[in-house]
Amino acid sequence: MTERLLTIDEWKSAVEKNLVQIRKNIESAAKRANREPSEIRLMAVTKTVPVEIINHAISLGVDFIGENRVQELNSKYDELNKDGLTIHLIGSLQTNKVKQVVGRVSMIESVDSLHLAQEISRQSKAQGITTDVLVEINVGCEESKGGVRKEEAEKLIEEIGKLDSIRVCGLMTIPPFDADSEKTRHFFREIYNLFIDIKEKNNNNSNVKMKFISMGMSSDYETAIEEGANIVRIGSALFGARN
Ligand SMILES: *Cc1c(COP(=O)(O)O)cnc(C)c1O
Repeated sequence: MTERLLTIDEWKSAVEKNLVQIRKNIESAAKRANREPSEIRLMAVTKTVPVEIINHAISLGVDFIGENRVQELNSKYDELNKDGLTIHLIGSLQTNKVKQVVGRVSMIESVDSLHLAQEISRQSKAQGITTDVLVEINVGCEESKGGVRKEEAEKLIEEIGKLDSIRVCGLMTIPPFDADSEKTRHFFREIYNLFIDIKEKNNNNSNVKMKFISMGMSSDYETAIEEGANIVRIGSALFGARN
């Protein structure tokens, strides 16, 4: 099957249609889990998507986007309609790029080492701000992936909690791509349980405010919502397949 390339206008209307469907699916999944649909935040993952299409999505009510590379984020940044827009960085971050992103995004979801957290702390302090972060968990223990193992999360969060100008706000995960749906559900449940555990242990730590569980992408966001996600990160189901 060959795919015909869409014109910009066809692409825009596809995004409109997809957005309606995704919102319906989020609502149904929330109801199945006896949750309020408004608890769940839809992040539009905009990597590889041109600014014109992103701004169209924003005009349709998308108020939250995620980019996974600093360079790509910065190349789009000036042209984005940022009024009321929340931007998170979701991809792996090298310490030498931290300076380019602190102050630009409201959260960095991919913190997986003390070294990286220290640099975020340092750059944030220099700007006089506090940066919110999520700790990324490598739930499938995959060699190729970023994130810390579940067993290391508590210790890392404790260490980050001692730093200035950085606040841990929850957990993020990307389950293995090849896991079947029941295995994926199991991974999501593990992250939810870890989140609750860490939250209870940090009730009195003002640098650790466990609020967000960022999990679920185009193929599994409904399962993630059923298992407790409150940020779902959706790219291809909204914008179409990436090249
Ligand atoms: C690309 C990406 C997504 C979105 O993936 P889709 O399957 O297209 O929805 C979510 N999270 C991260 C970290 C990503 O890099």
